[in-house]
Amino acid sequence: MEIIERGAAGSARVAVVGGLHGDEPAGERIVRRLADLLPDPDETAGEGIVRLIIANEPALEAGVRYTDTDLNRAFPGDTDSDEYERALAPEIVAAVDDMDAVFAIHTSHSVPPPFAIYSELTDSVRRTVTAMPVDYVLDAGGLRSTTLDSVAPHSVSVEVGRQGSQQAVEFGLESTLAFLRAHGALDDEPPTFTPATVVEGIEEVPKGGGEPHVNYANFQEIPDGAVFASDAEYTHRVDEPGIVPVLASEHGYEEIFGLYGRITGTLEPPSGEVASE
Ligand SMILES: [Zn+2]
Repeated sequence: MEIIERGAAGSARVAVVGGLHGDEPAGERIVRRLADLLPDPDETAGEGIVRLIIANEPALEAGVRYTDTDLNRAFPGDTDSDEYERALAPEIVAAVDDMDAVFAIHTSHSVPPPFAIYSELTDSVRRTVTAMPVDYVLDAGGLRSTTLDSVAPHSVSVEVGRQGSQQAVEFGLESTLAFLRAHGALDDEPPTFTPATVVEGIEEVPKGGGEPHVNYANFQEIPDGAVFASDAEYTHRVDEPGIVPVLASEHGYEEIFGLYGRITGTLEPPSGEVASE
């Protein structure tokens, strides 16, 4: 793990985490751009800091998702573990534990639109999500409890686009600047806030063998009775209304086609902040 500290405009203490997955170079590139962009801590008057973290250096170096085990399935981790990522996880938690807001950047094999993910909604999380240029946020509180956003307070993960794409870097940087403005860490322009549609994560959709087919796009309702995805082993027919796919992908993941989610409502901007058009 590499930690780079930069100064914040106000008193905010925020963290940006890139490179939890080594085959997602966008996060590291965004963190390094921010390191160039933001002032040294001793050049700012305030108490605030922006803590920039590059998480899994060996995996980034090798261009692989992980070296021993998937870091974002290994939280809260175990300092005594022989597995590199499981032992690294507690160090990352310790580096973000005292922060007012945490932003973890990911890319995926799935298609747009980009979206945010949280496990526990706090005022800080609401501020982060509604400041971002995303229309959807996944409430992953009922899914895995082994991700960074499920163990680190006030943390939001963001899927910024397709793995390896330039658009993912640009959208991710734009989102991260919006995050910094929302928490007062960057004062180049005022933050703007918009509501986001909340999708509750229900369950992962398993994948078997043979040629995979995915028939519906992310966040588009699957008609009652329609087949979301199929292969030689599975035919996933949806038997209730209101189900939407999240992270849907034919070839992106070895074991899942994606997730089922359900739209549960709207996340409004923090009180006192006016939503922009
Ligand atoms: Zn990732």
